[in-house]
Amino acid sequence: MLAPGSWLGCLGGGQLGRMFVHAAQAMGYKVLVLDPDANGPAAQAADDVIVAAYDDMDAIAAFGRRVAAVTTEFENVPAASLEALGAMVPTRPGAAAVRIAQDRRKEKRFFVEHGLPVGPFAVIERAEDLRDAPGQMFPGLLKTATLGYDGKGQQRVTSTTQALLAWMSMKQAPCVLEAMIPFECEISVLVARSATGEVRVWPVQENQHVNGILDLTIVPARLDAAVVDLAQTLARQLVEALDYVGVLCVEIFVTANGLLLNEIAPRPHNSGHYTIEACQTSQFEQQVRALVGAPLGDPSLVQPAVMVNVLGDVWFDALIPMQPAWSEVLALLGSHVHLYGKAEARTARKMGHVTCVAATQDAALATAVEVKRILRIP
Ligand code: AMP
Repeated sequence: MLAPGSWLGCLGGGQLGRMFVHAAQAMGYKVLVLDPDANGPAAQAADDVIVAAYDDMDAIAAFGRRVAAVTTEFENVPAASLEALGAMVPTRPGAAAVRIAQDRRKEKRFFVEHGLPVGPFAVIERAEDLRDAPGQMFPGLLKTATLGYDGKGQQRVTSTTQALLAWMSMKQAPCVLEAMIPFECEISVLVARSATGEVRVWPVQENQHVNGILDLTIVPARLDAAVVDLAQTLARQLVEALDYVGVLCVEIFVTANGLLLNEIAPRPHNSGHYTIEACQTSQFEQQVRALVGAPLGDPSLVQPAVMVNVLGDVWFDALIPMQPAWSEVLALLGSHVHLYGKAEARTARKMGHVTCVAATQDAALATAVEVKRILRIP
């Protein structure tokens, strides 16, 4: 295990990096962040920062020389940079797993190859692929294979003609066409695996999205124990199949006919922020443990939790800038406010979250409803 006091590298400077920095520092480590933005959420908290592009190989090499291990806080770090770092120091997750998560084509094929359940899809690389797509694909979602997130790079399509037009508007980038899944609810599962193959799974969380962005996470998910069990088993199978080291999140659709995997995030996840207050070990502490080669921590739930995502919209009232009523939110029993230090609030920009914990799920939900009312989140 790397001794506390060692330097850890974090590629990426967003809020996930910031919370990773907090966890690492709490355990006595120092963190060097590499990010193009000198004042991003993680850079503000880090012990030191290298301001550089993720594909600046000289900066990547300098970064690798200064740290004892590297992690990444977002999946769009070029796999080549992770590969270069992997040749220098332990890099978790490794380039191979990140490469799969970066490309929806690879991700879907990986699911199929490993017998993991996935909805109907077609890989779209030429116009003929769209013309040949079977009728069962409509209504569907056309998603760019790379660089999409939070519903960006996605268009709903109801026919081949509409799909062709949508594809043209996406500049004919490689895409995946997915059949619309009539899901009952969306869930996600956080799982961690260590370099020695130890696997730990958190309780399953239930997620509600608005406009493709996470709005609310409810834990534990309100599902039958058998469904929870199956979701956790799928998460375990996934990290084993990927030979993964670190924290991973898998998003899953719950349908009348069973579970279907949507996508994976090779890192801690927005839907796992509740683990900071509600679990024995948070997703960020676990990422530190996996990175430094420590035993993994116990992920079990200590108390029910509901997380409310806070977007930049709440800093505006009919387009007029305003300060949200934080003191009212902080007055609520069991509410925990996290703000990411972003200088500018913008519509749909993730600015923070509020985790509500309570002795019962109903009480946590009631607090979350209050948080939304105070912050005027619809
Ligand atoms: P994604 O970026 O793929 O996670 O998609 C963002 C959100 O869009 C998901 O959380 C779902 O709410 C919705 N979505 C994505 N793919 C599908 C699908 N095939 N069927 C129905 N809803 C979907």
